[in-house]
Amino acid sequence: MDTNQYEKDLEGLGAFGIASKTLKLAKKNENHNSFLNAGRGNPNWINTQARLAFPRFIIFGVKESERTMLAGNLGGYTTLDGIGRRFDDFLDLSQKEDAFIKAFLDYAAEVLDIDRDALVKEFTDAILGNNYPVPSRCLVNIEKIINAYLQATLYHGVSLAASTQIFPTEGGTAAICYIFNSLKKNGLIKKGDRIAINTPIFTPYLEIPELTKYEMVKVGLAAREDNNWEIPLAALDVLEDESIKAFFLVNPSNPASRALNSTLLKRIKEICAKRRDLIIITDDVYGTFVEGFQTIYAVAPYNTLLVYSYSKLYGATGWRIGCIAMNKQNVFDDLIARLPEEKLQSLDEDYSIVTTNPRSFPFIERLTADSRSIGLYHTSGLSTPQQAMMALFSLSHLVCHDCDAYIESTKKIVAQRYHSLFEGLGIKENSTCENAKYYSLINIYHLAEQLYGKKLATYMQENFGEINFLLNLAKKNGVVIMEGVGFDAPSGTLRVSQANLPDDAYPKIARRIKALLKEYNDKMTASLNGSDS
Ligand SMILES: *Cc1c(COP(=O)(O)O)cnc(C)c1O
Repeated sequence: MDTNQYEKDLEGLGAFGIASKTLKLAKKNENHNSFLNAGRGNPNWINTQARLAFPRFIIFGVKESERTMLAGNLGGYTTLDGIGRRFDDFLDLSQKEDAFIKAFLDYAAEVLDIDRDALVKEFTDAILGNNYPVPSRCLVNIEKIINAYLQATLYHGVSLAASTQIFPTEGGTAAICYIFNSLKKNGLIKKGDRIAINTPIFTPYLEIPELTKYEMVKVGLAAREDNNWEIPLAALDVLEDESIKAFFLVNPSNPASRALNSTLLKRIKEICAKRRDLIIITDDVYGTFVEGFQTIYAVAPYNTLLVYSYSKLYGATGWRIGCIAMNKQNVFDDLIARLPEEKLQSLDEDYSIVTTNPRSFPFIERLTADSRSIGLYHTSGLSTPQQAMMALFSLSHLVCHDCDAYIESTKKIVAQRYHSLFEGLGIKENSTCENAKYYSLINIYHLAEQLYGKKLATYMQENFGEINFLLNLAKKNGVVIMEGVGFDAPSGTLRVSQANLPDDAYPKIARRIKALLKEYNDKMTASLNGSDS
């Protein structure tokens, strides 16, 4: 049938492709419902405190620049001497943005041991954007601040800030591209290598290993609904197999929104102690949404490269800010040192354009150089205003004494929306501490069975394609949800984002899902009656 063919073609587009189709259908939905897009992972909140601090440095910086040159709209350069004192005179502590700036300058001086003048100068120039990023990988004080932030939010009490190096990137997205590119260039992953990956997972991660360029073999570590969407402990045994070169994961996961529990972390730590050659890449963008979160990087710093992004927590997707963090002692450098001499010589040749000692050129610098095709290493690095914005978001957390009210609010928002959705659908909530609740997975067949019996679930599976429910939900009821299959989730799984819609949308989504299930049930009843007569 035509419609079936249409649905089959759509399925081929993957989760994000289908979502863009259902978007159009939902906007002109048959029931004239309000349009509700629960597919977007983009949050609908922003952090205001860090943003308000940003323009203060522009205003101050322009005044500073006019001290050295002034002709109409032309100003000059800034100077270090006495800059901290002039900045103190500039601040108006009755204004909350200036009080925040004062608090973080004090914090940076007292806790991070950063020279006040140097920091004011670094921030002012970074935000004016009048200099190339120097050093190109990361501005020096900003690196200390990002390190302190990652330690405070993701390491769960483990001290690694001093031994960690940061490469700020254009969001987590660029981090991922740079990592794959440099792993391949440096011969750390090769055609046909076996890579373990935790599914269901953020689709770009599924798509990258399947690029013909890499031709890697994926070994699934499937989290399942009947195991609270956690990787089963025994499944981790596969990482002991030396033919597995690397383990890529999103933690807490997307779409399932579950963090690894302490038992799994302990097991990974054990495996890494034995497997000094195992590469782990962990994407911890959702870490702060989990109470007491701990990253794999904290338990296996030697083996692990950490990707973080400010996009979700701070409502900063348009800023494109994220980073790669890795330890000074790491498996990547040691694996490079053990490459065959022939490969090393070819790498020497490439990197000798930018370093006199290519053999000791660390992987994190290779990542930076590779991001600009090596040749343009000296003008690589994330734009300085972006680096400063990352530091400001980081400081908004670091200045909090015990509890960060902003982070608590973001957790409360998604938890409340999760609660209204699940209550509306009549599904049991999962309130384990590993549940980030940023997204939720709903199995439409299980819900059909719960509401109308096994008969309806079977009827839907036998008579309609994978995405039929999703298309109808958009076309008839105006709701866009993403299908989970594109993330390698089991059939019938839908991903709802708790990040992007106003709170009152979630009970509506529940009602519209239930109304559509009733329609399927009515159709089934009618067809059964029809065949009876
Ligand atoms: C949203 C998201 C990111 C963030 O990417 P940015 O490029 O920083 O916006 C990274 N990883 C995962 C798994 C995500 O869901």
